[in-house]
Amino acid sequence: MNRIASVIVDVPTAQTDRSFDYLIPDELKDNLEVGMRVIVPFGNRQVQGFVIAFKEKSTVSGLKEIIEPMDIEPVLNQELLQLGEFLANETLCLKISAYQVMLPPALKAKYDKYITLAKDREIGELPKELEPLFLKQKKVNWKDAEKLVPSSYLYRQARAGLFDVSYEIKNKGNKKKNIYYVPCSDQAQFLNKLNQLNLTGKKQFQVVNIYLQNFAPHTVKEIETKVPNARSSLNQLVSKGLLKKEEYEEYRDPYQNKKFQETKALPLTDEQELVIKPILDSIEHSTHEVFLLHGVTGSGKTEVYLQSIEKVMKNGKEAIVLVPEISLTPQMVERFKGRFGNKVAVLHSGLSLGEKYDEWRKIQRKEVQVVVGARSAIFAPFENIGIIIIDEEHETSYKQEDNPRYHARDVAIERGKNHHCPVVLGSATPSLESFARAQKGVYHLLTMQKRMNNSQLPVVEIVDMREELRTGNRSMFSTALLEKMRLRLERSEQIVLMLNRRGYSSFVMCRNCGYVLKCPNCDISLTYHKVTDQVKCHYCGFEMRTPKQCPECSSNHIRFFGTGTQKVEEELGRILPEARVIRMDVDTTTRKGSHEKLLTAFQEKKADILLGTQMIAKGLDFPNITLVGVLSADSSLHIPDFRSSERTFQLLTQVSGRAGRHELPGEVIIQTYTPEHYSINFAKEHDYLTFYQYEMMIRKRGQYPPFYYLALINVSHENLQYTYTVIEKITSFVRGQLADGKGETLILGPAVSPILKIKNRYRYQCLIKYKNEPNLIPTLKQVLEHFQEDQVKRGLHISIDLNPYSMM
Ligand code: ADP
Ligand code: ZN
Ligand code: ZN
Repeated sequence: MNRIASVIVDVPTAQTDRSFDYLIPDELKDNLEVGMRVIVPFGNRQVQGFVIAFKEKSTVSGLKEIIEPMDIEPVLNQELLQLGEFLANETLCLKISAYQVMLPPALKAKYDKYITLAKDREIGELPKELEPLFLKQKKVNWKDAEKLVPSSYLYRQARAGLFDVSYEIKNKGNKKKNIYYVPCSDQAQFLNKLNQLNLTGKKQFQVVNIYLQNFAPHTVKEIETKVPNARSSLNQLVSKGLLKKEEYEEYRDPYQNKKFQETKALPLTDEQELVIKPILDSIEHSTHEVFLLHGVTGSGKTEVYLQSIEKVMKNGKEAIVLVPEISLTPQMVERFKGRFGNKVAVLHSGLSLGEKYDEWRKIQRKEVQVVVGARSAIFAPFENIGIIIIDEEHETSYKQEDNPRYHARDVAIERGKNHHCPVVLGSATPSLESFARAQKGVYHLLTMQKRMNNSQLPVVEIVDMREELRTGNRSMFSTALLEKMRLRLERSEQIVLMLNRRGYSSFVMCRNCGYVLKCPNCDISLTYHKVTDQVKCHYCGFEMRTPKQCPECSSNHIRFFGTGTQKVEEELGRILPEARVIRMDVDTTTRKGSHEKLLTAFQEKKADILLGTQMIAKGLDFPNITLVGVLSADSSLHIPDFRSSERTFQLLTQVSGRAGRHELPGEVIIQTYTPEHYSINFAKEHDYLTFYQYEMMIRKRGQYPPFYYLALINVSHENLQYTYTVIEKITSFVRGQLADGKGETLILGPAVSPILKIKNRYRYQCLIKYKNEPNLIPTLKQVLEHFQEDQVKRGLHISIDLNPYSMM
């Protein structure tokens, strides 16, 4: 008999990063499963934990008992529990953070547990003690029920299916409420009252009949499935005192009011046939394989995904589809919902905590077979996965920048192995890492070179902005771009204008002395916001009024530099007053749903020009876009990061891909101050392969990925001296442990981080480049353990990022 549970406790330190044994109290014996969360005593506190295993004996004596379970069903299945170990090993995170990252955020918030009677179950099945509670309301607080019956009874019945259990987050607004018609009293009194009443009208009888058959609260909707147009009858019964009206929170479905056009599988093109065949084979034979689907923009990758998923669903299995947060537009969701209807759950950051939880529950309960979501959807609690797809696999948003610092691609491949299923990585501009793996045969390369309907890739023209200046054009629009925009307006075709603002801020500079306004807490320039005439720090939130005089030299020639989308919008208003412009950037898309609204308006041709930052570069498939203008291609080239050329190439290729996707041919204008740069030139030619070869050469020379792996150790503290002492110690320790210089391992540092100070903390780093270094993980673990106490007591922060994507 299992008497003991091994629990990973929520005490996030290196010393407690192991399982602790607890006795299982008798009344919980039948109600506890591996993968559930429990409350346990720890020291003199009560903490949460995850049950990861049962055992009969423990080597520890004097075990304490589990206080109570938090879940009715496991929140993590066996595979996810194992995956937690994988994450902890691969990203050097604590097991507790690995498990927590897999759960919807609602389960981490403070919440109340509620029980409702399961569908088709009746109040009569309840013990007498509980009846009054359930007559009063449909949803009963667990705590109230616990006062009347033993909690072990509640757990047992919840597990046996008499109750549904739901979680409601405390102090969260925006709850969706439903109105219920509730019987006024218990059944005997109800009948008594009924006998004294004069029921008028047939409808009232029919309604009362429903209550007699199923004596429980009902919504108007439920009643109206049996008695159409029952609302007024219900209200009459309320006024006669037989029923009461009450409001309860309900299941939320963010897409329930949207109609999705049903679509059927399209006959595939020859290219699509060729690439889908090996994927279908892998599905059919349940073999794990990683495919890299390299298809130019508009080549029909999504249709390949859809038909692969269809096959998976026919086999009774499940599919996970990851897309970058930013391209989780209604258009993308529509394509999946249109094909698979309510079998699709959608997870993205625009949803409220409750909505996310509800989508997650659909997955957990096997009510859906497909999940489409951003990064964290990779942890969907499916148990029978038949395919995992990562669209736009090169996107850096697949890497989480906080603990656990995982890359969704690595997790996908691990889960693909666990489930013996294919993983499909799709992109028009694969990451160098993935393409190199495909070249070596580690991944199976699939290629699609043609656009749908034989439409051509757009013609790209590069405009040298230095020349423009020389010829006297001081505007942000080159003569060529302006001319082509005028033409589009005449023809009522649409234009996309992108302002590349990656690594570029509209900073405030003194033209007299060159002083740039910087954040007093962080070592980065402040960004100018015109509407409020303020400057703000995007790291710590510091803000102040823009000074009228230079703090350095007191000159009043201090003004903002660089171009923001607002400024472009103003200029457009001046030179093309007839054009209708939609501006999309962080300022216009902060409100929930605003992103979608703007895109829908553009799709419905309520505007001629869509102006935005890189967030508009992806996923748009609008037939009427025939011109794409990139206002400033260069800014992302100058970020101090070895991936800046790759990112610029990807961005330019993606945004060019928005033009001419259907019948109308497309054109692209790229404005730049460095027209000779290879990223820009290969993007003009749509030449991924040559770009890849060229960039590989540079990476090889610089000893960067994919030739070397990287590990970045970052140390931060408020005291500069102390920060430096710590990074120095770490660097020399690491040097001693690893084969620095001797083999193929290189240790760089200690060095100041590209941003010296963030939120008043100084930052230093040490970068390790390696090819094969078996001693790496143990060494890094030792570093973390050694400084554990300083982290807790002195506020030291050490982060270790294996395969970092942000070098700042
Ligand atoms: P990608 O994802 O590669 O950028 P899409 O999947 O968006 O390309 O496809 C581009 C367009 O071609 C879409 O409008 C899509 O509906 C259409 N399309 C895809 N496959 C087919 C097909 N086999 N027959 C007809 N149209 C297709
Ligand atoms: Zn000055
Ligand atoms: Zn700051």
